[in-house]
Amino acid sequence: MKTTMPLLLLSGVLAAVAGCQQAENTFTTMSTNTNLTPSTVQMTARTDEEWRKQLTPEQYRVLRQAGTERAFSPGYEEFKKQGVGTYVCGGCGVELFSSKEKFDSHCGWPSFYDPANAKNVIAREDHSLGSVRTEVICAQCGGHLGHVFKGEGFKTPTDLRYCINGVSLKFVPAEATATEKLKSSQP
Ligand SMILES: [Zn+2]
Repeated sequence: MKTTMPLLLLSGVLAAVAGCQQAENTFTTMSTNTNLTPSTVQMTARTDEEWRKQLTPEQYRVLRQAGTERAFSPGYEEFKKQGVGTYVCGGCGVELFSSKEKFDSHCGWPSFYDPANAKNVIAREDHSLGSVRTEVICAQCGGHLGHVFKGEGFKTPTDLRYCINGVSLKFVPAEATATEKLKSSQP
Protein backbone atom coordinates (compact mmCIF):
# COMPACT_ATOMS: atom_id res chain seq x y z
CA MET A 1 0.00 0.00 0.00
CA LYS A 2 3.00 2.24 0.46
CA THR A 3 3.26 2.92 -3.25
CA THR A 4 -0.34 4.09 -3.60
CA MET A 5 0.19 7.64 -2.42
CA PRO A 6 3.16 8.64 -4.59
CA LEU A 7 1.41 7.12 -7.60
CA LEU A 8 -1.74 9.07 -6.87
CA LEU A 9 0.29 12.20 -6.35
CA LEU A 10 2.14 11.64 -9.58
CA SER A 11 -1.12 11.03 -11.42
CA GLY A 12 -2.36 14.27 -9.97
CA VAL A 13 0.69 16.12 -11.20
CA LEU A 14 0.32 14.60 -14.65
CA ALA A 15 -3.36 15.45 -14.76
CA ALA A 16 -2.45 19.00 -13.79
CA VAL A 17 0.29 19.07 -16.41
CA ALA A 18 -2.11 17.80 -19.06
CA GLY A 19 -4.63 20.42 -18.04
CA CYS A 20 -2.02 23.13 -18.34
CA GLN A 21 -0.91 22.29 -21.85
CA GLN A 22 -3.58 24.61 -23.19
CA ALA A 23 -2.35 27.52 -21.07
CA GLU A 24 1.39 27.86 -21.44
CA ASN A 25 1.80 30.72 -18.97
CA THR A 26 0.26 28.77 -16.12
CA PHE A 27 2.34 25.78 -17.08
CA THR A 28 5.68 27.53 -16.63
CA THR A 29 4.74 28.61 -13.14
CA MET A 30 3.53 25.15 -12.27
CA SER A 31 6.69 23.36 -13.38
CA THR A 32 8.84 25.17 -10.88
CA ASN A 33 6.59 24.04 -8.05
CA THR A 34 6.88 20.32 -8.72
CA ASN A 35 9.55 17.94 -7.52
CA LEU A 36 10.28 16.71 -11.00
CA THR A 37 13.87 16.83 -12.18
CA PRO A 38 14.75 19.55 -14.72
CA SER A 39 15.04 17.02 -17.54
CA THR A 40 11.59 15.68 -16.68
CA VAL A 41 10.08 19.13 -16.72
CA GLN A 42 11.69 19.81 -20.05
CA MET A 43 10.22 16.61 -21.42
CA THR A 44 6.71 17.28 -20.21
CA ALA A 45 6.86 21.00 -20.92
CA ARG A 46 6.48 20.53 -24.65
CA THR A 47 3.64 22.39 -26.23
CA ASP A 48 1.16 20.68 -28.45
CA GLU A 49 2.84 22.26 -31.45
CA GLU A 50 6.24 20.90 -30.40
CA TRP A 51 4.82 17.40 -30.04
CA ARG A 52 3.32 17.67 -33.51
CA LYS A 53 6.72 18.61 -34.91
CA GLN A 54 8.59 15.87 -33.06
CA LEU A 55 6.22 12.97 -33.60
CA THR A 56 4.93 11.34 -36.77
CA PRO A 57 1.18 11.93 -37.32
CA GLU A 58 0.45 8.35 -36.20
CA GLN A 59 2.64 8.72 -33.08
CA TYR A 60 0.89 11.99 -32.27
CA ARG A 61 -2.55 10.42 -32.66
CA VAL A 62 -1.66 7.54 -30.32
CA LEU A 63 0.67 9.17 -27.76
CA ARG A 64 -0.98 12.58 -27.43
CA GLN A 65 -4.59 11.79 -28.36
CA ALA A 66 -4.89 8.31 -26.81
CA GLY A 67 -5.51 6.70 -30.18
CA THR A 68 -5.01 3.03 -30.96
CA GLU A 69 -3.01 1.76 -33.90
CA ARG A 70 -4.60 -0.95 -36.00
CA ALA A 71 -3.98 -4.56 -35.01
CA PHE A 72 -1.19 -6.49 -36.77
CA SER A 73 0.45 -3.27 -37.98
CA PRO A 74 3.91 -3.37 -39.58
CA GLY A 75 5.25 -2.25 -36.18
CA TYR A 76 3.82 -5.36 -34.56
CA GLU A 77 5.44 -7.61 -37.15
CA GLU A 78 8.74 -5.88 -36.41
CA PHE A 79 8.18 -6.23 -32.67
CA LYS A 80 7.88 -10.00 -33.01
CA LYS A 81 11.26 -10.15 -34.76
CA GLN A 82 13.14 -7.89 -32.33
CA GLY A 83 15.69 -9.59 -30.08
CA VAL A 84 17.19 -8.61 -26.76
CA GLY A 85 16.85 -4.96 -25.85
CA THR A 86 14.88 -2.20 -24.22
CA TYR A 87 11.65 -0.49 -25.24
CA VAL A 88 11.74 3.23 -24.50
CA CYS A 89 8.95 5.79 -24.80
CA GLY A 90 8.44 7.00 -28.38
CA GLY A 91 7.75 10.46 -27.00
CA CYS A 92 10.41 11.11 -24.36
CA GLY A 93 12.80 8.14 -24.51
CA VAL A 94 12.43 6.93 -20.93
CA GLU A 95 12.81 3.16 -20.34
CA LEU A 96 9.41 1.43 -20.19
CA PHE A 97 9.63 -2.25 -21.13
CA SER A 98 12.28 -4.80 -22.06
CA SER A 99 12.51 -7.93 -24.14
CA LYS A 100 12.61 -9.95 -20.89
CA GLU A 101 8.93 -9.28 -20.20
CA LYS A 102 7.81 -9.49 -23.81
CA PHE A 103 5.52 -12.34 -24.86
CA ASP A 104 3.39 -13.18 -27.89
CA SER A 105 -0.25 -12.87 -26.93
CA HIS A 106 -1.35 -13.13 -30.61
CA CYS A 107 -3.56 -10.08 -30.02
CA GLY A 108 -1.97 -7.98 -32.76
CA TRP A 109 -0.20 -5.49 -30.51
CA PRO A 110 3.12 -5.67 -28.63
CA SER A 111 2.53 -7.41 -25.28
CA PHE A 112 4.49 -7.44 -22.04
CA TYR A 113 3.63 -9.07 -18.71
CA ASP A 114 5.37 -6.37 -16.65
CA PRO A 115 7.12 -3.03 -17.16
CA ALA A 116 10.93 -3.03 -17.07
CA ASN A 117 10.87 0.08 -14.95
CA ALA A 118 7.60 0.27 -12.99
CA LYS A 119 8.07 3.87 -11.89
CA ASN A 120 7.96 5.02 -15.50
CA VAL A 121 4.63 3.39 -16.25
CA ILE A 122 1.37 4.66 -14.74
CA ALA A 123 -1.93 2.79 -14.86
CA ARG A 124 -5.21 4.68 -14.55
CA GLU A 125 -8.89 4.00 -15.15
CA ASP A 126 -10.19 4.69 -18.61
CA HIS A 127 -13.95 5.04 -19.06
CA SER A 128 -13.94 5.57 -22.82
CA LEU A 129 -15.76 3.19 -25.20
CA GLY A 130 -18.46 2.57 -22.60
CA SER A 131 -16.41 0.21 -20.44
CA VAL A 132 -13.85 0.49 -17.66
CA ARG A 133 -10.37 -0.36 -18.83
CA THR A 134 -6.97 0.42 -17.36
CA GLU A 135 -5.02 2.84 -19.48
CA VAL A 136 -1.22 2.80 -19.37
CA ILE A 137 0.67 6.05 -19.77
CA CYS A 138 4.31 7.15 -19.64
CA ALA A 139 5.06 8.67 -16.23
CA GLN A 140 7.51 11.12 -17.71
CA CYS A 141 5.68 12.71 -20.64
CA GLY A 142 2.12 11.52 -20.03
CA GLY A 143 2.03 9.85 -23.45
CA HIS A 144 -0.66 7.22 -24.01
CA LEU A 145 0.92 3.77 -24.37
CA GLY A 146 -2.01 1.35 -24.39
CA HIS A 147 -3.98 -0.65 -21.82
CA VAL A 148 -3.27 -3.38 -19.28
CA PHE A 149 -5.53 -6.41 -18.83
CA LYS A 150 -5.49 -8.86 -15.92
CA GLY A 151 -6.45 -12.48 -15.48
CA GLU A 152 -6.70 -13.58 -19.09
CA GLY A 153 -4.97 -16.86 -18.35
CA PHE A 154 -1.65 -16.24 -20.07
CA LYS A 155 1.05 -18.45 -18.63
CA THR A 156 3.27 -15.58 -17.55
CA PRO A 157 4.54 -14.69 -14.05
CA THR A 158 1.94 -11.93 -13.59
CA ASP A 159 -1.02 -12.90 -15.82
CA LEU A 160 -1.08 -9.26 -16.89
CA ARG A 161 -1.06 -8.19 -20.52
CA TYR A 162 0.31 -4.75 -21.19
CA CYS A 163 -1.18 -4.25 -24.63
CA ILE A 164 0.98 -1.48 -26.06
CA ASN A 165 0.84 0.43 -29.32
CA GLY A 166 3.99 -0.20 -31.34
CA VAL A 167 4.29 3.48 -32.32
CA SER A 168 4.39 4.47 -28.63
CA LEU A 169 7.62 2.51 -28.25
CA LYS A 170 11.12 2.76 -29.61
CA PHE A 171 13.24 -0.38 -29.54
CA VAL A 172 16.86 -0.05 -28.45
CA PRO A 173 18.77 -3.27 -29.18
CA ALA A 174 21.04 -4.46 -26.36
CA GLU A 175 24.14 -4.10 -28.57
CA ALA A 176 23.30 -0.43 -29.24
CA THR A 177 22.94 0.26 -25.51
CA ALA A 178 26.31 -1.35 -24.81
CA THR A 179 27.99 0.71 -27.55
CA GLU A 180 26.46 3.93 -26.25
CA LYS A 181 27.64 3.19 -22.72
CA LEU A 182 31.13 2.51 -24.01
CA LYS A 183 31.12 5.80 -25.93
CA SER A 184 29.85 7.85 -23.01
CA SER A 185 32.46 6.34 -20.67
CA GLN A 186 35.23 7.57 -22.95
CA PRO A 187 36.62 11.07 -22.36
ZN1 LIG B 1 7.28 9.36 -22.37
